[in-house]
Amino acid sequence: MAHVKLHIPGPVEVSEKTFRAFCSPMVGHRGQGFKDLYAKMQPQLQQLLGTKQLVYVSTSSAWGVMEGAIRNLVAKKVLNCMCGAFSDKWLDVSRRCGKQAEALQVDWGSPIRAAQIDAKLATGQFDALTLIHNETSTGVMSPLLEIAALKRKYPDVMFIVDAVSSLTATKIDFDALGIDVLLAGTQKAFALPPGAAVFVCSPAALAKAATSADRGYYFDFVEFQKNAEQSMTPSTPSISHFYALSSKLDDFYAEGLEARFARHSRTNQQTRDWAARHGFTLFPEPGFESVTLTCVNNGAKPGGRVVDAAKLQKLVKEQGFLIDGGYGKIKGTTFRISNMGDETEATMAPLYAALDGAMKQL
Ligand SMILES: *Cc1c(COP(=O)(O)O)cnc(C)c1O
Repeated sequence: MAHVKLHIPGPVEVSEKTFRAFCSPMVGHRGQGFKDLYAKMQPQLQQLLGTKQLVYVSTSSAWGVMEGAIRNLVAKKVLNCMCGAFSDKWLDVSRRCGKQAEALQVDWGSPIRAAQIDAKLATGQFDALTLIHNETSTGVMSPLLEIAALKRKYPDVMFIVDAVSSLTATKIDFDALGIDVLLAGTQKAFALPPGAAVFVCSPAALAKAATSADRGYYFDFVEFQKNAEQSMTPSTPSISHFYALSSKLDDFYAEGLEARFARHSRTNQQTRDWAARHGFTLFPEPGFESVTLTCVNNGAKPGGRVVDAAKLQKLVKEQGFLIDGGYGKIKGTTFRISNMGDETEATMAPLYAALDGAMKQL
């Protein structure tokens, strides 16, 4: 069957080079070959995440680390900042982990603002918060700098940040932000196959995790640190993902991180321009739009054009491209187009041509 090119916000297209690396011959995960592979990536990962801490690779999907962060770091009560499907889900996950948890809920399409978090933390009830930097369901990017600045006021609160769909597409400096956990999955802007996540913990987070009696084993952050010190992982990882990640990191530095960030901004602007050309408005509150995907308003909010999103998706698919028809309660009343990963102006152009063609038939 002919491949339908992915322009959904994850998983995204994976290059032939990455697939070749993924299929490298197997090595033992306690042997020197594996240690060398991980050790070679470590400085590249540290530069990517802006940290001197060791960066861990968990070959689970992102939710493993997201749940792990709750189990490792919440003793008293967690504030789950919620502005879309993924961030809303984190409240449910916190409760399923048996933790006291409270929602800071804003309307879908709005970002989370520092003042809202400040008001909640001022109660003194919380020892952790979760934040999704780029809420993939709504295409909203919350102001991470503004929010991270609160950490100075609340040094004992663990700031846990999901950058699943923004890391590698925009600059995020973990140490400078002063936050406690930063995590990302690899099937979004990394453009790797699904099934791996990278994350980093502050020294304070590691110290707190060490005091948590019920942090479990598989996502025990203390185990990740102990093993990373020897360029290993707690259990047998998907070694194929390590090969693929190593190849991808080489790609990132061959291009240059700044160039990679700029490329994402440009291809994202192309999608916004396409939407505007066809009379659509965007779903996110202006000024808080993601740079990795575009969530087009299609009746969820007043204003702009409305089309049959399912039909648009179908017509575009017939031309070989998969876009997303909207997520959760805004399915159909929004649709989403991803520019994550390896996409350039040239590789995005055929998608817009297909979308233009489809629009003529609606
Ligand atoms: C995709 C996504 C997740 C979930 O990742 P899984 O790999 O399915 O565990 C979490 N957060 C955000 C922001 C995402 O975009």
